[in-house]
Amino acid sequence: MDLVQLQHKIRVVHDFPEPGISFKDITTLLCDGESFQYAVQQISEFGRPRDVDLVVGPEARGFVLGAPTAYALGVGFVPIRKPGKLPGETIRKDYQLEYGHDGLEMHADAIKPGQRVFIVDDLLATGGTIQSCIDLVLRAGGIVVGLGFLIELQYLEGRKHLAGYETFSLLQYA
Ligand code: AMP
Repeated sequence: MDLVQLQHKIRVVHDFPEPGISFKDITTLLCDGESFQYAVQQISEFGRPRDVDLVVGPEARGFVLGAPTAYALGVGFVPIRKPGKLPGETIRKDYQLEYGHDGLEMHADAIKPGQRVFIVDDLLATGGTIQSCIDLVLRAGGIVVGLGFLIELQYLEGRKHLAGYETFSLLQYA
């Protein structure tokens, strides 16, 4: 398996979910065991030297990649969810979308102050989602030691909002 073969496993769907969006469908990669394993191994290898205590991933595709990354590193996994899904006391971050706004929540007691956190998601686009995740981790007292993505849409320049964070993406679209 190499990166060219891996990129061919992603199905690009134009004008989904709305006109002008080039949607990167990772389900076609996930259903191939060798590709899924390779992707998780590569993201995990980025995290391994960073002395990670916890992996954090946002709903829903951040769970699919974040949970096996945590398992590979032998650490715990913390989900960040859409509002109203988590039963315990939560902290919340609201953020602007192109139209309207959205929110994300994390259990207030999920991260102990000083824990070293690796945040994993499927895709870096504008960076709004990952910035909200960073905000929640920092408010909980965590230290963000890395950001890991399967895909980076370089043309949206999300990385320029992430200065100061060690950021890894396995596949890029220029
Ligand atoms: P952003 O907050 O703009 O960085 O968007 C990142 C989140 O939106 C990721 O969790 C992705 O799952 C999803 N996303 C954004 N743009 C795309 C795209 N073109 N194809 C697939 N997923 C996307």
